[in-house]
Amino acid sequence: MASQEEVFKKMVSHCKEYGFVFPSSEIYDGLGAVYDYGQNGVELKNNIKRYWWEAMTRLHENIVGIDAAIFMHPTTWKASGHVDAFNDPLIDNKDSKKRYRADVLIEDLLAKYDEKIEKEVSKASKKFGDSFDEQKFRETNPRVLEHQAKRDEIHARFKKAMNDNDLAELKQIIVDYEIVDPISGTKNWTDVRQFNLMFSTEMGSTADGSMKIYLRPETAQGIFVNYLNVQKTGRMKLPFGIAQIGKAFRNEIVARQFVFRMREFEQMEMQFFIKPGTELDWFAKWKETRLRWHKALGLGDEKYRFHDHDKLAHYANAATDIEFEMPFGFKEVEGIHSRTNFDLSQHAKYSGKKIEYFDPETNSSYTPYVIETSIGVDRMFLSIMCAAYKEEVLENGESRVVLSLPPALAPVKACVMPLVKKDGLPEKAREIMADLKFDYNVQYDEKDSIGKRYRRQDAIGTPFCVTVDHDTLTDGCVTLRDRDTMEQERIKIADLSSRIEEKVSFKALLRKVAND
Ligand code: ATP
Repeated sequence: MASQEEVFKKMVSHCKEYGFVFPSSEIYDGLGAVYDYGQNGVELKNNIKRYWWEAMTRLHENIVGIDAAIFMHPTTWKASGHVDAFNDPLIDNKDSKKRYRADVLIEDLLAKYDEKIEKEVSKASKKFGDSFDEQKFRETNPRVLEHQAKRDEIHARFKKAMNDNDLAELKQIIVDYEIVDPISGTKNWTDVRQFNLMFSTEMGSTADGSMKIYLRPETAQGIFVNYLNVQKTGRMKLPFGIAQIGKAFRNEIVARQFVFRMREFEQMEMQFFIKPGTELDWFAKWKETRLRWHKALGLGDEKYRFHDHDKLAHYANAATDIEFEMPFGFKEVEGIHSRTNFDLSQHAKYSGKKIEYFDPETNSSYTPYVIETSIGVDRMFLSIMCAAYKEEVLENGESRVVLSLPPALAPVKACVMPLVKKDGLPEKAREIMADLKFDYNVQYDEKDSIGKRYRRQDAIGTPFCVTVDHDTLTDGCVTLRDRDTMEQERIKIADLSSRIEEKVSFKALLRKVAND
C-alpha cells in the first residue's frame, strides 16, 4: 500500500492535472508558495466560500458581511501590534542553508513523542485484544511513561520560552534535544532571530511624498476599523458579528505542504462583538458551532480535534484551533480566539475616536469584547482534497481515481453524455443540459468511450453522470450513474433535477449546521 506521503504527492499532481491548482506563473518556474486555482479549483473554492458565507450571514440574523480593502492606513498595523510583534522565530541550518521556524521544529519533536506513545498503545491493544485496558496501560507502562515524561519536560520549556519570547532558550531546546535538520541531518544551527511576516509597499508617487503601506496579513482589522460604521448603519445590537472573506499576505519563512502555508492566501473571518464578561460562554458556543459546520460535510468526525493554544497572545484569554487530520498529521485549519477588547481599544487609542457601544439595557457605554473565528479557505480546500482523494481497485480489476467531494461543494454537479455522437442523441443531451444549467454547473461530454468519460468525471468529483441512449428518444428516460456507488439506474428526464438536488443541495447542508 502507498504511504500517506506518496498519496499526498499523487493528490498534489492530481490537482494540477485536473485543473484544480497550478503553481503561480509556472512558465517562469513558479513563485515560492504562491498558487493559482484552475477551472475546477475555483469552482470548489467558490463553493467553500459560499458554504461559509451562507452559514454565517443567513443562519445568524445578527451577523452581517463586509468587504474591506486590502490596503489599509499604516497606523492600523501599529495599533494592532503587527508592526512590532507579527514575528516568527527563525533558525538556519548552516549546512543545508535551509531556514526553519524554531517553534515548528520543536512542535514536530513533540509530535514525534506523541506518535511513539500511540504506537506503544496500538501495539499493546493488538496484543491484548478485548481485555486491553487502555487507560491503565497509559498510566503504568514504563515505556509510555518515559516518553510522556520527556514530552512534558520539553513542552514545559517550550511553552515558557514562547511566552517569555526567549529566543536563546528556543535555540537551547533545539540543541539540548538534538534536533537535526531533516535535509542535512546535522545540528549546525544559527541563533534564533525574529522575522516580521508583513509585506510592505509604497503608495503614491515620491514627489507627493509616498507612504509605506502593508498588504494586510489578516482580514480581521478591516472588520475592527469598520465596527462603528456597521454598528451604526445596521443599527446592530450586541451581540452581533461581522463576517468577511478576502486575501491576506504573509511572508512565511517556511512555505511547505502545497497550499497549506502560502504567502498569498484567503481567509474567512468573523468577529463577534459581545458584552464583557460573557466571552467564555460565547467562546464555547462558537467552538461548537464551528465544529458542527466542519462535520456537516461528512468527511469523517474522527478527523477533527481541538487543540488549545499553549501560547496565548497577550490580549487573548482563550484560544483553540480546529485541527484536521491531513496526510502529514493533525494540522490547524481554523482558529477560534477570545480577543477581549484589545483591538477596538487599540484603534480607539491610535485614532483618537471613541469606539464603544451604548447598551440601552444597562444605560452605559463600554468597549465590546470579541470572539473571532478565522479559517483559511486554502487550508479548507486542502483538507477536503486530502479526505476526498481515493484510488480504488474495482471488481473487474481496473482502478480508478475518484474525488469523493461533499456533493454540494463539487465543481461540477452532473455531466450529460450521449452514448454515441449520432442519431439525434447529442441534440437530446444538449436539450437536457440546457435545462439543468440554470440550477447547477453541468458539463457536456461526447468524446471517448462511456467508461473513459465516467473516469474523467470521477477524477474531478462529479456526483452524477447522465447518459442519453437510443431508448431515451422513445421512453423519455436516462441512465443516472452515482459517483460513489457507481450504481446506475434508469430515471425519467422529468425527475432528473430533483434527484440531483437531493444530493447536492446547499439547503440540506445548511440545515445540518443550523440546529442551534
Ligand atoms: P500557523 O500557526 O499555521 O502559522 P496561524 O495560527 O498564524 O497559523 P491565524 O493567524 O490564526 O493562523 O490565521 C487563521 C487561519 O488562516 C489559519 O487557521 C489558517 O487556516 C489560515 N492561514 C494562516 N496562515 C496561512 C498561510 N500562510 N497559508 C494558508 N492559510 C493560512
